Parts: sequence; structure tokens; C-alpha cells
Amino acid sequence: MPLTRWLAEYAWLPEHAEPTPDVLIEAEDGRITAVTPLVGDGAPAAGVEVLREAVRLPGLTLPGLANAHSHAFHRALRGRTHGGRGDFWSWRDVMYTVAARLDPDSYLALARAAYAEMALAGITCVGEFHYLHHGPGGTPYADPNAMSAALVEAAAHAGIRITLLDTAYLAAGVDGAPLTGPQRRFGDGDALRWAERVSGFTPEDDHARVGAAIHSVRAVPAEQLATVAGWADRQGRPLHVHLSEQPAENDACRAVHGCTPTRLLADHGALGRHTTAVHATHPTSADLTLLGDSRTGICLCPTTERDLADGIGPARRMAEAGSPLSLGSDSHAVVDLFEEARAVELDERLRTRRRGHFTAAELVTAATVAGHAALGWEDAGRLSVGDRADLVTVRLDSARTAGVPPVGTFFAATAADVTHVVVDGRTVVAEGRHLTVDVPAELSAAIEELTRP
Ligand SMILES: [Zn+2]
Repeated sequence: MPLTRWLAEYAWLPEHAEPTPDVLIEAEDGRITAVTPLVGDGAPAAGVEVLREAVRLPGLTLPGLANAHSHAFHRALRGRTHGGRGDFWSWRDVMYTVAARLDPDSYLALARAAYAEMALAGITCVGEFHYLHHGPGGTPYADPNAMSAALVEAAAHAGIRITLLDTAYLAAGVDGAPLTGPQRRFGDGDALRWAERVSGFTPEDDHARVGAAIHSVRAVPAEQLATVAGWADRQGRPLHVHLSEQPAENDACRAVHGCTPTRLLADHGALGRHTTAVHATHPTSADLTLLGDSRTGICLCPTTERDLADGIGPARRMAEAGSPLSLGSDSHAVVDLFEEARAVELDERLRTRRRGHFTAAELVTAATVAGHAALGWEDAGRLSVGDRADLVTVRLDSARTAGVPPVGTFFAATAADVTHVVVDGRTVVAEGRHLTVDVPAELSAAIEELTRP
């Protein structure tokens, strides 16, 4: 790819407490080659010709946003499970109904549209926590990784990167009960067979990587946790795990194993700086210490936790214990990392009845560089030389953002304010439109197909 130059009205540079005005960003072959603030010494050096050629980016330009926790097919449930009463468990039954209808072709269509919606929202990389592996009844497809391949292809069509977190889902409960009904499509039998299958999935495309996931201590028997964790460790891959989203999981784990889910994961070698615990909504103080001391990351999904009545995780205590925080849209009730980011601060205010727990820069870090690191992309999420050329521009002249100082963007903007998205140097979204996918039309068609009575 040739040298490209962008002139950002404002850009959020690494380690800065607030955005910098008038920044020239240059990239070649998908990597940032220069970042030059023009206020001060930069302007004369850049030259008038260079500035004239540069693509103008009015508004605030951020590094790429990382959506560290996604189940793409949950997008089909938006607005269908929100009325009436019910809880996480009744929601899960509806989710299984959609899961039962998916095959590699229909999942490609749905995920392509869902990932393109993410691109429109400024998400340049997704962590897909993928457990819908097999055909009806649990029979493997001719290619046992056909569903994974569909998701990787979907991300390519949408123009974003993906870390396919291939998820071990082996049991129906902490007591090791066998999978039944729709859950049978998730299972590989045991962790060794899971490892064998995932080892055979080696996408060659530049935009995709493969990581591992333990669905939860509910779904992987204790004696098999180390097999999954060891596979990820030996391969140097990220390992993700749903953790303590519900008090019921803690209770069941205590009843069967006499300890919390976090302690169980620690005892089987599943925590560490390459591990990300998703949710961790109901940890004990000792759990927070185990997570923080091991530098285990925590992915918060506030809009989903809100939607499912999960509760509010102790985000500030997590960060202070030493866990890097990242963000995910999880069930896709909302796909908007600005909303996820500010919810980390705002939910903490509701919980503590105090304000000012996280700085704006900390929220930007969670939405960008920390999320990319949690997904194994250590060279993304910063506007700095050598990093991947991911640019996300947010307009500051919409009804929501007009008059807002650039530093306040994360407290005002929504995904609809994203105008321009560049992934690995390629423009994916311009003037608020996805360049290759008609997102609303494709979402409608894919979801109608899956939810028809
Ligand atoms: Zn999840």
C-alpha cells in the first residue's frame, strides 16, 4: 500500500491526558510511519504540499477500538428478549433457539453484517468467543472448523481484524453434567479433542488470529481446565474465560469444589497476563487479588451486564488490584464502545454514589490498546509509529457532540458519530458509510432468516 497521509483536527496520542490539535498521521503498508503535531515545530517541516494532499479528518481521531468480547449470533436477539420479566437464564433459552438454526452459510451472513455494524462503530478488531462449533445434534461438519472459518471470512468481508477465541464447552454444569439439547452443538467431548480440533484451524489471512477460551467453570470440568490453559500457554495465544457473571455460578462452584471460580482457575493454571476474565461481576476480595497479582485482564461488558441484570463489577478495585481493563459488547444489545467505556465510570458512580473514578484517558486505554492486547494484537490501539494504521474519527459537530470539548468525547459521542474508519491502512468506513456492506439491509435479511417462525 502506498504512503497515505491524514490530517486530524484532533488526535488522541498515547500517554496524553487529552487530544492534541492538528496532527499529521502518515502510514505505509498498513503501519503508522509518522505522527506529527503541527502546532509548534511540526508545521514548517511537514510542508504545504504534504498538507494539501492529506485526507482531512474533521473531529477527533482515535486509535482503533477493540471489541474484546463478542458472540456474533447474539445480534439476532436484539430487541427480542427485552420485554417482560426473566433473567440471564431465561434469556439463554431464547439464545439457544437462534443458535440451533445457524449453519456455516447463515452464520457467515449474520456475522458479516454484525461485524460491519462494529466497523461503523469504530471497532477495528473483534474477539469472537466462539462455541457454536458443530452441526445439529453435535455432529461435526465435514470441516470440523467450518463455523470458525465462516466467522474469519465474515470479519474479512467487514474489513476488521478478528481473534477467533475457540471456546471449550464440554459440560452443562459445574458438576460435569453432560450437554443436552442445543448445547450438544458446542461440545467436542473432552479438552484433548477440543485441542486437536482447534490445532487444525490455521487461517492464513493477515486479519485473523486464533486464541482459546474456557466457556466458564460451568462448562469445562475442573480436571480439564489445565488442558485448555496449557494449549494456549504453549502456543502463546490469548485465553479468555467467562467468570462470575452470576452469583449462581459462584454458589455452584463452592458447592462442588469448595472454592470460588477464580480460585479454581488459579489452581489449574488458567490465570496470567495472557488471560482475560470476562465480566468478573461478583468477585470476592481474594479473587480480585488473585486476578490482579497474576495480571489477568478483565473485560467488562456493561451494556450486556445491564441488559441481563447481572450486577455491577467493582471496576476501580479491579484496576487497582493490577488487572488491565478492556471492553466488550458481548450480547450486542448495544454495539457502541463509547457507551461501554463511559458505563465503566458511570456504573461505578451508581454503585459508590461518588464521581470521578476513571480519567477519560483511562477509558480510551480500555477501549483501544488494552482491548487489542487482550486479543493478542500488541501492535495496535495506539497512534504511534510502528503500530497498525487504525484510525477512528468521531465528528464533533453532531447534535450530540457539538460544543463538547474533545476531551469529553467519550462522555458525549455515540457509535453513530463515527465518520471515518481505517483498518491496517485501508479505509473501511467513510462519511459514516461502510464502503462494501449495506449494514442495515444485511442485518435485516440475516436476522429475518433466522427468526422466521
Ligand atoms: Zn459472553
